[in-house]
Amino acid sequence: MGKQKKKNTNIKMTKKKTSSSHVWLFLIIGIVTIGLAVFMLTGNFNKDSGQSELSYKNQPYLGEDDAPVSIIEFGDYKCPICKDFNESFFPLIDQELIQTGKVKFYFLNYPFISVDSERSALYGETVYKEIGNDTFWKFHKLLYEKQPEDQSQERKDVFTEKFLEDTLKEVTSDENVKKVSGKYKANASEKAVETDEALVNDLGVTGTPTLFVNGKKFEGNTFGDLQKMVEEAAKENKGDK
Ligand code: CA
Repeated sequence: MGKQKKKNTNIKMTKKKTSSSHVWLFLIIGIVTIGLAVFMLTGNFNKDSGQSELSYKNQPYLGEDDAPVSIIEFGDYKCPICKDFNESFFPLIDQELIQTGKVKFYFLNYPFISVDSERSALYGETVYKEIGNDTFWKFHKLLYEKQPEDQSQERKDVFTEKFLEDTLKEVTSDENVKKVSGKYKANASEKAVETDEALVNDLGVTGTPTLFVNGKKFEGNTFGDLQKMVEEAAKENKGDK
């Protein structure tokens, strides 16, 4: 009898243990489910607001660190409209918005025209990573200036590795060029281009040049339109604070 009683107690204890394991299991499932729901809700919220999702980390920029508004240009070094943009529209942005401390201006790659686009995007990223922001912007400007005027050459092999090296030589030392070319050959900046391309997809960019002002696509045509959008974005930022 005594033995059996003991046995029964053991069974009871085991049962108790099992039900407490279930409670823990349900509790854990509950916590994970709630966590997942909060995560999904936050993700959607960020998507709707169109700002928090955008990361500007490790991207080259011009302007003051504390400029209240950020503009991104998505460009392709082989795109003729990008060349026009950089030579006629960008100087206004620089003079009126960047130099005045109103805007931080970022360049991101959307290389889609030809192998030249891919090569120059990768090379530009390597210049930025290995030599720095200042040399990147000199190289960037020069590359657009050197884009062939003749549109029929658009898809030919113009921006070869040799061409990119020679272009970089015009703005930095031979030693730096050697460093960049070595890293370029090793595909060191492939991930950086992929990061830009992922943003192209996320933001639904379909052509170049495309501008985003604090994460919102610029749909206007004139510099006045852009100026207005920047002023509104600056006001919104002030309102948030
Ligand atoms: Ca980039």
